Amino acid sequence: MTSTTTGFTTDRQQLAEVSRWARIQGWRVGGWRGYQNAPFEDQATVTVRVNEAGLQVWRKPAGTPYFTGQPTEYPAATVREAVDILAAVGILPPVFSSAYRMGRSDSAFIANVETNPDRKCGICGATSGLTLIPGNPLTGTTNQWLCHDTCKAMTR
Ligand SMILES: [Zn+2]
Repeated sequence: MTSTTTGFTTDRQQLAEVSRWARIQGWRVGGWRGYQNAPFEDQATVTVRVNEAGLQVWRKPAGTPYFTGQPTEYPAATVREAVDILAAVGILPPVFSSAYRMGRSDSAFIANVETNPDRKCGICGATSGLTLIPGNPLTGTTNQWLCHDTCKAMTR
């Protein structure tokens, strides 16, 4: 089997993709509020600061030139969590979210497996009556096929 991890990326790759996107979109390092979505504060509408606890997001009230008030705090333990949050609150496009990537990589995986004569249960090696167990990028598990009902390995 080849390339069952299509669409999964490392933290480093993910950060590189996000910063490339942000640069193209005009994001710049602002003041102490972190990154802002325009070169100057009066044009920016949102800022994102990363700290040890996760993310702080300021959104500027309409019609005001400067950010005021308190940020919204989003706890995040990992880069992937932080990126997922930014996608969920509409700051990053959905393509960056792991849910999107999981969907995309599952379909790539299924397309690969459907044309692969080696499809078999990951435990006992049965080649029929299989069901696909999707992997979860949050836990690092990959897709695999298992017996649909009771695996032969369990009934021996
Ligand atoms: Zn089995």
